[in-house]
Amino acid sequence: MTERVDLAVVGAGAAGLMAALWARRTHPARSVLLLDGARSLGAKILVSGGGRCNVTHHAVDETAFAGSTPKAIRKVLRRFGVPETVAFFRELGVELKQEETGKLFPAGDRARTVLDALLRGARGAGVEIRHPWRVEAVRRAGASFTLRSGPGGEIEAGRVVLATGGRSLPRSGSDGGGYALARALGHTLTPRIVPALVPLTLPRGHFLCALSGLSAPATLEVRTAAGRRGARFTGAVLCTHFGLSGPAVLDVSRYFIHARLDDPQASLVANWLPETTEEQADEALRTTTAARYAGGRLPERLARALVAAAGVDWGTPAHRLSRESRRALARTLTALPLPVTGDRGFTVAEVTAGGVPLRELDLDTMESRPCPGLALCGEICDVDGRIGGFNFQWAWSSGYVAGIGAANAP
Ligand SMILES: Cc1cc2nc3c(=O)[nH]c(=O)nc-3n(C[C@H](O)[C@H](O)[C@H](O)COP(=O)(O)OP(=O)(O)OC[C@H]3O[C@@H](n4cnc5c(N)ncnc54)[C@H](O)[C@@H]3O)c2cc1C
Repeated sequence: MTERVDLAVVGAGAAGLMAALWARRTHPARSVLLLDGARSLGAKILVSGGGRCNVTHHAVDETAFAGSTPKAIRKVLRRFGVPETVAFFRELGVELKQEETGKLFPAGDRARTVLDALLRGARGAGVEIRHPWRVEAVRRAGASFTLRSGPGGEIEAGRVVLATGGRSLPRSGSDGGGYALARALGHTLTPRIVPALVPLTLPRGHFLCALSGLSAPATLEVRTAAGRRGARFTGAVLCTHFGLSGPAVLDVSRYFIHARLDDPQASLVANWLPETTEEQADEALRTTTAARYAGGRLPERLARALVAAAGVDWGTPAHRLSRESRRALARTLTALPLPVTGDRGFTVAEVTAGGVPLRELDLDTMESRPCPGLALCGEICDVDGRIGGFNFQWAWSSGYVAGIGAANAP
C-alpha cells in the first residue's frame, strides 16, 4: 500500500528544514515528511561561511537582493526578519554573534551547531526526515500528490513544499533537478539561470593573477559597451591564480554575467582607489612620484604591478612624467578595465540567479498559483542576495512562510 503523509517537503536544506519544522509546530496533528536525495544532510550549511555559517546579517532588506521585484521579496522577508531569526536560533540553543561587518555567525563559529540545531528542532517537532530519497517525479493525483523515487517507491502527500535549492554546489545535491519538478507542476523558470556570488576568471598570465593571495579594497563597476554605468560594489578584491574573487567580485558577478549576456562587449572596471576619481589621481600625480602616490595607498606588490601595467617607471619623478603617462597611470589606478574571460561556474558559485518567479506564488503562503497545494521556498525561487548572510535569511523567511502556509491550509 502506498504510504500517505499530510505534507511532504522535498529538500532538507535551510529552507526545507525551516518549512518542515514550522509546519509541524503550527499543526502538530499533521504528519510532515522531509525528503532529501543526499546521503548526508546539510552539506551546504556545513561549508557555508567558510565552515562558520553566516546565518544572517544585522540589516536585511529587499535592496540586498535581486531577481524578483523588491516589493515581492520584502513581503516575504517581513514575515520572518532578523529579530525572529535570532530569537529562533536562540530558542534552538544557538546564540548568534554580530561581527563588525554586520554579519551574524553562531557564537562558537561552527556551522555544525546550526545544522544540528535545525535537525534537532525539526525532529523534536515531530518531522520525519528520510534520506537518501531523491524525488524523481511529483505528479498531481486528484486532490493530492504522488512523489516517486527510484529505489524508494511512491509516497502520497496531501500537500508538497519544493525546497530543492538551485544549481550551485551540485555535489551537495542541489543540482537543479528541482526545476524540472516545478515545471512539470505548471511553473515557468526565468529565461536565465546563471551562477551568482561566483569568482571571475582573467586571461592566463594576466598581471593580477601573478598577485595570487593579495587582497585590496576596490570599487568594481559594470559598464555597457556604450559606457553606461551599471551595478557597482566596493569591497575587498582577492587576486587568485585564475582571476578574481573576494566580496566585491562575488557581489558584482551576477550583474556582470547578465550584462555580458545582454551585450558581449560589456566590461568590468576596477577603481583601486575607491574614494578617488581619475581626475583627482591625475592632479595628485603632478606633484609626487608614482611610487609615493600608488605605494602610499595600496599594498606595494599591487602598486608596483599597476604602475608597470600603466607603462610607467616606478621611480620616475613627477616632473619627468609625461602628460600621457600620468593620465595612463591615473586611469589604471582608478578605472582599470578587467578583461574577464568568464566565471567559475555552478560548482563554485555560492548561489543561483534565476529560478521560479515570485509572481507565480501567493506570497502570504508561498503557495503555487498554477498548482494549488504545492508551495516553493528557498533558492529554487528567483531571488538571490548579496554576500553576508542574506541568502540564508531568504531561506529562513521563505521556508517559514511556506511551512506555516502549508500547515494552515484547510
Ligand atoms: C560554499 C557556499 C557557502 C555559502 N555561504 C553562505 C553563508 O555563509 N551565508 C548565506 O547566507 N548563504 C551562504 N550560501 C548560500 C546558501 O547556502 C544557500 O542560499 C542556501 O543554502 C539555500 O537553501 P535552500 O534550502 O533553498 O537550498 P539548498 O541548501 O541547496 O538545499 C536543497 C536541498 O534539496 C535537496 N534536493 C535537491 N533536489 C532534490 C530532489 N529531487 N529530491 C530530494 N532532495 C533534493 C538537496 O540535496 C539539498 O539538500 C553559501 C553557499 C555555498 C555554496
